[in-house]
Amino acid sequence: MAADLEAEVQAIDKSLLECSAEEIAVQWLQANDLQKEVYQHLAYYVPKIYCRGPNPAPQREDMLAQHVLLGPMEWYLCGEDPAFGFPKLEQANKPSHLCGRVFKVGEPTYSCRDCAVDPTCVLCMECFLGSIHREHRYRMTTSGGGGFCDCGDTEAWKEGPYCQKHEINTSETAEEEDPLVHLPEDMVARAYNIFAITFKYAVDILTWEKENELPGLEMIEKSDTYYCMLFNDEVHTYEQVIYTLQKAVNCTQKEAIGFATTVDRDGRRSVRYGDFQYCDQAKSVIVRNTSRQTKPLKVQVMHSSIVAHQSFGLKLLTWLGSVIGYSDGLRRILCQVGLQEGPDGENSSLVDKLMLYDSKLWKGARNVYHQLFMSSLLMDLKYKKLFAIRFARNYRQLQRDYMEDDHERAVSVAALSVQLFTVPTLARMLITEENLMTTIIKTFMDHLRHRDIQGRFQFERYTALQAFKFRRVQSLILDLKYVLISKPTEWSDDLRQKFLEGFDAFLELLKCMQGMDPITRQVGQHIEMEPEWEAAFTLQMKLTLVISMMQDWCALDEKVLIEAYKKCLNVLMQCHSGFTDGEQPIVLSMCGHSVETIRYCVSQEKVSIHLPVSRLLAGLHVLLSKTEVAYKFPELLPLSELSPPMLIEHPLRCLVLCAQVHAGMWRRNGFSLVNQIYYYHNVKCRREMFDKDIVMLQTGVSMMDPNHFLMIMLSRFELYQIFSTPDYGKRFSTENTNKDVVQQNNTLIEEMLYLIIMIVGERFSPGIGQVNATDEIKREIIHQLSIRPMAHSELVKALPEDENRETGMENVIEEVACFKKPGLTGRGLYELKPECARNFNLYFYHFSRAEQSKAEEAQRKLRRQNREDTALPPPALPPFCPLFASLVNILQSDVMLCIMGTILQWAVEHNGYAWSESMLQRVLHLLGMALQEEKQHLENLSEENVVTFTFTQKISRPGEAPNNSPSILAMLETLQNAPHLEVHKDMIRWILKTFNTIKKLRESSSTSPVAETEGNIMEESSRDKDKAERKRKAEIARLRREKIMAQMSEMQRHFINENKELFQQTLEELDTPTSGVHENSPVISDAKLTALGPEQTRVTEHRQVVMCILCQEEQEVKVDSRAMVLAAFIQRSTVLSKNRSKITPDPEKYDPLFMHPDLSCGTHTGSCGHIMHAHCWQRYFDAVQAKEQRRQQRLRVHTSYDVENGEFLCPLCECLSNTVIPLLPPPRVLFNRLNFSGQPNLTQWIKTISQQIKALHLLRDEDCNSGNSEKMDQLQLPEGFRPDFKPKNPYSESIKEMLTTFGTATYKVGLKVHPNEEDPRVPIMCWGSCAYTIQTIERILADEDKPLFGHLPCRQDDCLKSLTRFAAAHWTVSSLSAVQGHFCTLLASLVPNEKNGGLPCILDIDMFHLLVSLVLSFPAIHCQEFSGVSLGTGDLHLFHLVTMAHIIQILLTSSTEENGMDQENTNSEEEVAVLTLYKFLCQCTGSALKEISSGWHLWRNLKAGIMPFLRCSALFFHYLNGVPAPSEIQVNGTNQFEHLCSYLSLPNNLTCLFQENSEILNTLIESWCSNNEVKRYLEGKRQAISYARESNKLIDLPDDYSCLINQASNFSCPKSGGDKSRAPTLCLVCGTMLCSQSYCCQTELEGEDVGACTAHTYTCGSGVGIFLRVRECQVLFLAGKTKGCFYPPPYLDDYGETDQGLRRGNPLHLCKERFKKIQKLWQQHSITEEIGHAQEANQTLVGIDWQHL
Ligand SMILES: [Zn+2]
Ligand SMILES: [Zn+2]
Ligand SMILES: [Zn+2]
Ligand SMILES: [Zn+2]
Ligand SMILES: [Zn+2]
Ligand SMILES: [Zn+2]
Ligand SMILES: [Zn+2]
Repeated sequence: MAADLEAEVQAIDKSLLECSAEEIAVQWLQANDLQKEVYQHLAYYVPKIYCRGPNPAPQREDMLAQHVLLGPMEWYLCGEDPAFGFPKLEQANKPSHLCGRVFKVGEPTYSCRDCAVDPTCVLCMECFLGSIHREHRYRMTTSGGGGFCDCGDTEAWKEGPYCQKHEINTSETAEEEDPLVHLPEDMVARAYNIFAITFKYAVDILTWEKENELPGLEMIEKSDTYYCMLFNDEVHTYEQVIYTLQKAVNCTQKEAIGFATTVDRDGRRSVRYGDFQYCDQAKSVIVRNTSRQTKPLKVQVMHSSIVAHQSFGLKLLTWLGSVIGYSDGLRRILCQVGLQEGPDGENSSLVDKLMLYDSKLWKGARNVYHQLFMSSLLMDLKYKKLFAIRFARNYRQLQRDYMEDDHERAVSVAALSVQLFTVPTLARMLITEENLMTTIIKTFMDHLRHRDIQGRFQFERYTALQAFKFRRVQSLILDLKYVLISKPTEWSDDLRQKFLEGFDAFLELLKCMQGMDPITRQVGQHIEMEPEWEAAFTLQMKLTLVISMMQDWCALDEKVLIEAYKKCLNVLMQCHSGFTDGEQPIVLSMCGHSVETIRYCVSQEKVSIHLPVSRLLAGLHVLLSKTEVAYKFPELLPLSELSPPMLIEHPLRCLVLCAQVHAGMWRRNGFSLVNQIYYYHNVKCRREMFDKDIVMLQTGVSMMDPNHFLMIMLSRFELYQIFSTPDYGKRFSTENTNKDVVQQNNTLIEEMLYLIIMIVGERFSPGIGQVNATDEIKREIIHQLSIRPMAHSELVKALPEDENRETGMENVIEEVACFKKPGLTGRGLYELKPECARNFNLYFYHFSRAEQSKAEEAQRKLRRQNREDTALPPPALPPFCPLFASLVNILQSDVMLCIMGTILQWAVEHNGYAWSESMLQRVLHLLGMALQEEKQHLENLSEENVVTFTFTQKISRPGEAPNNSPSILAMLETLQNAPHLEVHKDMIRWILKTFNTIKKLRESSSTSPVAETEGNIMEESSRDKDKAERKRKAEIARLRREKIMAQMSEMQRHFINENKELFQQTLEELDTPTSGVHENSPVISDAKLTALGPEQTRVTEHRQVVMCILCQEEQEVKVDSRAMVLAAFIQRSTVLSKNRSKITPDPEKYDPLFMHPDLSCGTHTGSCGHIMHAHCWQRYFDAVQAKEQRRQQRLRVHTSYDVENGEFLCPLCECLSNTVIPLLPPPRVLFNRLNFSGQPNLTQWIKTISQQIKALHLLRDEDCNSGNSEKMDQLQLPEGFRPDFKPKNPYSESIKEMLTTFGTATYKVGLKVHPNEEDPRVPIMCWGSCAYTIQTIERILADEDKPLFGHLPCRQDDCLKSLTRFAAAHWTVSSLSAVQGHFCTLLASLVPNEKNGGLPCILDIDMFHLLVSLVLSFPAIHCQEFSGVSLGTGDLHLFHLVTMAHIIQILLTSSTEENGMDQENTNSEEEVAVLTLYKFLCQCTGSALKEISSGWHLWRNLKAGIMPFLRCSALFFHYLNGVPAPSEIQVNGTNQFEHLCSYLSLPNNLTCLFQENSEILNTLIESWCSNNEVKRYLEGKRQAISYARESNKLIDLPDDYSCLINQASNFSCPKSGGDKSRAPTLCLVCGTMLCSQSYCCQTELEGEDVGACTAHTYTCGSGVGIFLRVRECQVLFLAGKTKGCFYPPPYLDDYGETDQGLRRGNPLHLCKERFKKIQKLWQQHSITEEIGHAQEANQTLVGIDWQHL
């Protein structure tokens, strides 16, 4: 069947290919009814091309469509071959100067914070780089797709609208010119025809709703072929869809994932193809399966030809988009066609039709036509305007559709609003001509229909669906914001009228919010259900900016402001109609004043936090002052109609509510109330909530008698009784002992005093006080920084943002703060300048309670440090604007003085209950404010003015009869000596001092002198003098102590945080006395130190006594005692790899005996250096295991470590470990029978060894085929060789066990196999791990330019020592014959014998690995040797042999460029010798080797190439034999090479080795060179590693982060055909970009589905990976499938902060030091450890499915 189909399709293709586009076009040109002709053509061909089978074949379809369908259209349009026609058009075109680049998902976009008209104005990367804005303050974001570059749009930029590229086209500013004049007339006509027909065809077919017919097209042959089409929705999850599909259409999971991915991306996908019944059946299964909980998935059975035409319809739209790209004239014609009204009148244009059908189209179709709109209508200035009008007229309908639709906003046509409404001229035009403001607000209101009886919004009983719609309707507020964002510079009467009309609508909206969500205090029982509060606050929060912008608009025009003020007042009156209805007015009187008010208790009646109308009026009132309208046109304002008590009533209630909540009176109302109070004060809302309530009270007080205001306030606070009754306090404390009530009242009094402080003191908004906007923001910053130094982003978060997302902070920050740069961790901080501290106000109204007390503490501490007194007096304040000027009188009003007097009286009497210190503190603050006020009045006194502020007089007057209370001043003097008020003394002293200053000022200005008790005060102060002196001294002493303590703890904290690693080392260094003396402390000072061979320096090993961290017991490290072990972590590593693409061989069969020099995968062992008894560790590990099993059964949670894999955390430092290394004394001593007489030279030694090997082979052969004793006889056993001798194992049982444990662990991890201690590969893996670990450490030291010895942290030193000694001892627990076998094979690679064939050639062997393995396996042979040859001799000969092989290896692969460098013609001995050697090599290789005549170059090359090997060997023999390193190689310096050679018992002239041993070496070299692989290499047929191998580094990262974003946005998923990847992730090790966290790129790994990153780690990093998640700007560490963590990226903004998640958008640049730190983590193999620590610190990291990334 399939084959038939294939054949059929091919047949059709052939007939199709015979079509001639030109002929068809000619036909069309002559046609009378072009539409009919074209339609017939399409009706015939489209179904033949599209939808021929179950799966789309986009390439074939595109090719045929271009040939058969689009080709003729292009011919017709051009009137000639389009291959000539289009370029001609393009040339003649005068292109627009708009860039208009449509953004891809994830593409970087840039906005200039200085020049963009609003934040939606963005540039593409190319334009940005060519613009002036790159030098400005800019912001970078990644596009969510859609939207386009605004380069060239003069309305979008205040400055620099063109980039260099688009500037060129502006030279001829022919804006008004009709682009059609550039087109020939006949082409205009043809374009018009073909565009009209094709556009209509596309629109008709896409909006077609019948399943079996076609619009205006005949079905040529009606076959029974259908598609079962599955559509996307936002309700069902990926998993649900995949599951359902598997069931419904019987496909594999992979296919189902494919379907689901396409549905998600394109919005629809056919999931079955066949006859109607077949498809319908699938449909019903899908519907049935998905309809249970939610609405079912949308599925439709569609005839194949409909689907075909729809496919082509979309193709046509794309084609139109590209054709108009050739010419602006064509673009204009298409716009004209699109917007032309059809025969059905209104809304019948093609554009209207598409827009109105939008919500019914699938995602892919929407994207296509939106793109077309963007490249046509939005690119043509004339038609953009017409389109905007169409859009505005359809606005209501479009929004209604969008509300019904469940797709995200980005794919809805409604989202185009941002392109239209943010253009200032369009917005203005739409407001005046289409009444857009009103339309948007009314549409919004339409969708929020739920109201209570008073007509207010009610969200309480919202269903899930309504809540969903509520979320969607919020986008309308965004539209409103767009319309308002650019403010008019000129007002026409029309604009005024329409704006005010919109303002009316807006007031209607606010009216529905005024008083919504009212609450009543719960007494007795706790509320049962938390009431819904979030919706109301969401609305408030979203509207906040709009409310502010409305005020900004009003401020721009006096007429508008006056009208708006009247309207707002009017609406407020409507809200408050019935304000006093049914309430009995009551009369309050105090201090001879009385006022009438209503009876109302916040604690008993309904109260609401939502008062937007009151607050808007408060805002407008301030504007009256700010714009001076209040002074210029008082007659036009309804000021006399204002009723101050009415204005203040509701805001006051709200503030009282906050106070009562704070006093704990509303506890039973639950958390919802607490949350509401929180947001009321929060920076997101406060500007239009809390702040405006304060303004309203200020407005009220400034218009009424302050005594009246205070009485009403007392009454609302429910404190009137307390202050209006004389001696209430006394009676209160005796009569009422209810502690709670006393406490409550105390808090309420404190809160009320705080409120008065705010009313008087908050005058930093322009219009209230005589300040400007800069002063306001400076004050905010000063107070934030008074708490503590802060990072830029913290400050931004604490400050309110305007509609342009600006806080205005950057303009002023330099004036008030200094910037401190960040170190390697942490971030840059702003610190308050010392001189700004005097502006600190303890009662700053935006402080939270916690912030207030932190700030108080910080400021007092600062003053103590500066040796100032610790009083925090109120700062001097700017004067009020005239409209508010009278409100300062509240401070000297009778009721205020009465309140202050009463509280001071309480303090003097000092009864335990009825007063509190913070009450007193506030009174003192108020007194201070009043004195400051009076002082300023006096200082600014001008001749004609009389100072009416006479606070000092008033507080000097004693109370009147009957109380005869002392004056406030007198009470202060009393309190100054009160022992219980020590803390407030500084403040009282400050008050009295200020009082005196004022008195002097008064006297000097000779206005009414104050006759008071001066002497008294003076006396007072002298008496205090020596007391103060003593106190001062004590204070200084205390300060010094404190400072030292603080410094110490600071140093410690700093140390730990900033330098974690170092700290750990130091800790260990402190620990080290337990682990004995270090060997690298020189014991033998003067003698020449030699690490190996018969000449090896003898050192007596110190007794090594160590302490177990678990049982704290000490023990000596000895062969026969209980084993001591180090916690260790073994991991596979590719850090040194030179070949990351190598395929890992089957671990079961892999032979690891020879390490390839590409080091593609090694086994690394690390340790934290903590020592335990083996049995203590065993017990600990068993306990961990048991606990973990219990925990997993109970909780099913993961831990940061995998117990089943033997992982555990070091009990001391919680470092991840997976095994332990035993501690051993130097193992060679045990087997080295010292005998220095008559040691053989290399040649003799090799001969002997070869004989021994031969003997062993024979013995083994004999074992196999027994009875072959003849051969045995033939063999003469070398003298003293006793192959039957079995050496005795010297170690204790416990040590043996640990040798096996660690060996098996190395084998298991290194090969990724199941543990098997018998496997002969176990010892190989141990030697390998030892060699590899030494190599990694050598590289780290070399890269950091550190000397070889003396700079290793203890943990590494201990680890390497233990690891080397362990590896040397391991052969004692493995099979002797296996180890002997390994030695024989290893040696055979250099000294060939007939038994071992097929070994790698010397180019393919890592010589250091070979050396380590040979040396460590050699004792297995040597133990049977009794002829007196020392083990050291063997070591030395092996070392020399391998070194020579390495030299040959280096010379063979040397890539010396002879003339690369200036050479000195010294012709030293070394140079001559190496040249001779090279010539010999040339001979051996048959002259295939490159001719080199410069010994100088060769020698330098050789020295450089062999250095790493020598350094590794030095480390190896040092740890093996315990010979201390000579002091010369413990520091950096010259002659390192010579010192190394001497330590390693090598001649300085390495080539001497060859000369000394030429007898055997010449043969060996010849045999090495004759290897086939070597020949192939020399012939250039294969590659080889050359030396020295360069260290691996992480990839180079660009300095500018946006380069990476750009790179990532160009990256598409490698698996799903050109799709943009959602989470592009960069491997920092190899630079591969991956498509992470996505179904499309999941692969199977060891039977599990894993994401692209995890899969990549297995090839690139052997399970460990370091990635940069580009969209998130976050580093990702992965290890294995279950471990991972995020790490701060190495990119910082100018403020020294990272931006994880790219939320702030500040430009980011690479911080090299931080990147180096990450690189070091990688080189040190600490990634896994880092993950472990991160997961231990943050448990949520454990739960993440890392393998899906
Ligand atoms: Zn651009
Ligand atoms: Zn540009
Ligand atoms: Zn700029
Ligand atoms: Zn112990
Ligand atoms: Zn540890
Ligand atoms: Zn990689
Ligand atoms: Zn992918």
